[in-house]
Amino acid sequence: MLKHRVLIVEDEQDIAGLIKHTLERSAGAEAEIVGSGDAALKAVSARPPDLIILDLNLPVLGGLEVCRLLRARSDARHLPIIMLTAKSSESDRVAGLELGADDYVTKPFSLRELSARVRAVLRRSTRVDERPAPGYQGDHLVADFDAVSVAVDGEAIRLTRREFELLRYLVQNKNRVVSRDRLLERVWGYDRLVETRSVDVHVGRLRSKLGGAGRQIETVVGLGYRFID
Ligand code: CA
Repeated sequence: MLKHRVLIVEDEQDIAGLIKHTLERSAGAEAEIVGSGDAALKAVSARPPDLIILDLNLPVLGGLEVCRLLRARSDARHLPIIMLTAKSSESDRVAGLELGADDYVTKPFSLRELSARVRAVLRRSTRVDERPAPGYQGDHLVADFDAVSVAVDGEAIRLTRREFELLRYLVQNKNRVVSRDRLLERVWGYDRLVETRSVDVHVGRLRSKLGGAGRQIETVVGLGYRFID
């Protein structure tokens, strides 16, 4: 089987080396390290990887700028990017996700967690973003979005239209963080009249109706929600 290629953009060599070692051992990937944003842009041009792990704290050309430049290029617009961010910089995380990063991991991170995120992103790297998900089948939750039917542990559950659309959007973007603003825009269809607080209320109700599957909807503090598959 062909190995996935991961480009690690990190100027701290110790960290970069650990990541490379972990991904090659546990994610079956082949990893290359570059120490600057500039080198990252060149490496992507030379040979586009399947995934980029991008540290935001880089000298000269910062990670956010690298992300922005890549997203503006036709050959890199859809390249999956996982950002490495400092715990204290929530605004960077938000900016990164808005620029189109797929996920983020907060430093200091566990290598196991990073490896799990990498595998999840690689699994879904045949991108389906905007295509409506026709359905979902998990351990507890089974949803047929075309038939508007949702069941948990074999029992049909009744959702309001809003809850149904919320579930569909989260499932469609599974394993990715979706901000409250994005949910308002996509599920409510307008963003000024409803407070982001009401997203929390709807998510809360949806979670409790989903019973055992409710915990698949994870709260990402300060950012939004993520449906975990
Ligand atoms: Ca760094």
